[in-house]
Amino acid sequence: MMEEKSLLHWKNTLISIDKLFFPPVCLACNQRIESVKEVLCSECKELLSPITINYCDKCGAPMIDYSCAYCSENDFVFDIARAAFIYQSPVRELIHNFKYNAFLAPASFFSQAIMELPEADKFANNFDLITAVPLHRVRKRERGYNQSELIAKKLAIKWNIPYAEPVKRYLPTPSQTTLNAEERVNNLKNAFRLKKNADVKGKKIILVDDVFTTGTTVNEVSRVLKEAGASKVAVLTAARAI
Ligand SMILES: [Zn+2]
Ligand SMILES: [Zn+2]
Repeated sequence: MMEEKSLLHWKNTLISIDKLFFPPVCLACNQRIESVKEVLCSECKELLSPITINYCDKCGAPMIDYSCAYCSENDFVFDIARAAFIYQSPVRELIHNFKYNAFLAPASFFSQAIMELPEADKFANNFDLITAVPLHRVRKRERGYNQSELIAKKLAIKWNIPYAEPVKRYLPTPSQTTLNAEERVNNLKNAFRLKKNADVKGKKIILVDDVFTTGTTVNEVSRVLKEAGASKVAVLTAARAI
């Protein structure tokens, strides 16, 4: 635990030093930007596609007609899911930099976007704890941080809801991106388990992830939480693939 913290500390220090020598750039297109507080240039901001209207009541998918293909094809065990943006440029590049290149500023950007969701009040006021989809400890050590945890912790502070990690990832599952739907499910079976002393009985839980692709990952974590007695699971993600 200490090791992870100090690694992150050094990573942050190096990023701060980096900023002294390199002016801030847009984390999607690399164009120079004026403020270190921004993560996107004004052109990229114009391209953002927040999901604020016409989405599935249950899973949050942007909808073209009245039936949700995701909900009819999947057996989602979470109660509700919402995403801040459609997973396309510039959000795709921003998340990539956030995940793999140790740019941590997007955590604030995405938590802010989640707090601006049309139904944000519902999440801010009715839940007992916030958690994030866990990374396997080996993956986390390699990366130095869990990007979803960073978003979740910011939400926890802003909404004044305790952050906890009741679920552990036991298998260092390979990247999901090259797998089809069935392979994804098999890949994740038993990857997540409740921690020994975790107690989620009767709790209403917000589960945070970076991208909702097919929903398999968040669904598996939701299953673990529900089987352990959680009364409600709401999934909040930075982006939603379509
Ligand atoms: Zn840009
Ligand atoms: Zn749906």
